[in-house]
Amino acid sequence: MLLEVRDLHVEFRTRDGVAKAVNGVSYGVDAGETLAVLGESGSGKSVTAQAVMGILDQPPGRITGGEILFQGRDLLTLKEGERRKVRGAEMAMIFQDALSALNPVLSVGEQLGEMFVVHRGMSRKDARAKAVELMDRVRIPAAVERVGQYPHQFSGGMRQRIMIAMALALEPALIIADEPTTALDVTVQAQVMDLLAELRREYRMGLILITHDLGVVADVADRIAVMYAGRIVESAPVHDIYKAPAHPYTRGLLDSIPRLDQKGRELYAIKGLPPNLMNIPQGCAFHPRCPKARDICRTDVPEVHAVDEDRGSACHFWKECLNG
Ligand code: SF4
Ligand code: MG
Repeated sequence: MLLEVRDLHVEFRTRDGVAKAVNGVSYGVDAGETLAVLGESGSGKSVTAQAVMGILDQPPGRITGGEILFQGRDLLTLKEGERRKVRGAEMAMIFQDALSALNPVLSVGEQLGEMFVVHRGMSRKDARAKAVELMDRVRIPAAVERVGQYPHQFSGGMRQRIMIAMALALEPALIIADEPTTALDVTVQAQVMDLLAELRREYRMGLILITHDLGVVADVADRIAVMYAGRIVESAPVHDIYKAPAHPYTRGLLDSIPRLDQKGRELYAIKGLPPNLMNIPQGCAFHPRCPKARDICRTDVPEVHAVDEDRGSACHFWKECLNG
């Protein structure tokens, strides 16, 4: 396993109390594999990723338990210097908002080239050639002419490609993409997603794709981990989830995707709001919103049941859910 997160716990201390953002998350991703981590905002998907990358704001955030094994080493035991080395060369992150992640006063060529100057000791001239090569690789047209341009001179989709190029530059073993296409329109979304999937195959990287949109991951993910209130409530191979979800929350997410074959059908929306992380409901955290909730759901936290050897559901009534 390239990356294995085990029983991770993260808290945020605020003036109003302690927000339990991540409450025992375990997941893994292999080289060449794509794991989609799905959930509403506040489900803990980004916070988990920030802990993996080592970019969690600490404080107010605090990792209170667990392990993050990357290529066999527990990242949480590394010194900051070593951690920085891993982060620079072995793992990279792609953010939703390329415009704020890129430096507005440096040309894209300088920013891409900088990676090679700093980490590979290349000359400016060679680094610039590398930058052009990368821009070509992520299919930015006329790379030679555009290498000197600034981020604001590119469209949203092209900027996102530049972010992908930055992430790829040092050929990391793992890329984490946090809502990489959320800010883009639908056709551009699909192109960027296809590009990511293609590069992941070619470079045999592990890819963690964080999204709130189950609709965008069907074609690119191998596995899906669905998060709710800082826990993984269902984890399964992607085709299993689409065939028959084993958790009511996953079912709700699936039923709220517009589908071409069901035009005219009314779109389902999960009722209610995600929980307050300072006051997570007793029992199953999803029970106030769950159409299948019963008494036991209000008192007993569901453990993760093995639906299959490679599939788990944290629902007392997963069997029922699986059968529709
Ligand atoms: Fe719904 Fe109960 Fe399952 Fe939670 S444990 S998802 S409340 S049926
Ligand atoms: Mg987020």
